Amino acid sequence: MRSIKKILAGFSVLLLLVGCVGPDRSDTLIVIDAGHGGYDCGALCEGQQEKDLVLQISRKLQKEFKRKGYRVYLTRGNDKFLKLEERTRIADHKDAKVFISIHANAIADQSRFNVVEGIETYFLQKTRDARSQRIAARENEAVLQGTDQLSRDVIIDAVLNGPKIVQSHKLAIDVQNNMIKQVKSRYGDVANGGVRPAPFYILVGASRPSILVEVGYITNSKERTRLFTSDYQERIAKGIVNGVDRYFDNRKREMGF
Ligand SMILES: [Zn+2]
Repeated sequence: MRSIKKILAGFSVLLLLVGCVGPDRSDTLIVIDAGHGGYDCGALCEGQQEKDLVLQISRKLQKEFKRKGYRVYLTRGNDKFLKLEERTRIADHKDAKVFISIHANAIADQSRFNVVEGIETYFLQKTRDARSQRIAARENEAVLQGTDQLSRDVIIDAVLNGPKIVQSHKLAIDVQNNMIKQVKSRYGDVANGGVRPAPFYILVGASRPSILVEVGYITNSKERTRLFTSDYQERIAKGIVNGVDRYFDNRKREMGF
């Protein structure tokens, strides 16, 4: 009787340990790319800069991924400018499983500043959608400096013919859904901009599932105020990490694990 009790006690300790440790993610590297940096401030509004916001969120994201046992690498951990090739080369050299670029959105038309808002997630694809093209053009501007048109076309075609688009699309859906879930649990009026295809060059060289998150509109005063708070940034970070978790769980299930 006593030995059965001992076995049961031992078994529950084991269960407890497994529950605490969770799945082993130590071989899963995530590359987080904070957009812009250095002389490239990104979107600007009322003295607040996209490059600072996305670095703050990227650092929170790094912490949250580490807490869950992932390995993480930031393309930039401070305020410096990186070329397109440098950002994606980091992901390739480090053999990352997922590449996530963090940005904040903006519009040019001042009369609509407080109308246009919301969180959006993009994956790489050529699109005729004018809105996606406009956002991609703005984000592409600085990273494309020094790259000629022929090279751009060659690299974008190589990726568009590869198998990563389907996976990137799935990753984008999981991340978007989980970000919205996290922020909506406190902020009921957050706009879900959904998942969209767009020709972002930052995602081009990455030969792995890659997405670009636009965490909100810096030109919208309600959203800007929230975006610069620690609570909102943590919710965004948590949502992204939960989305990546979900993405990996689903891939394992598809492969019959
Ligand atoms: Zn940006």
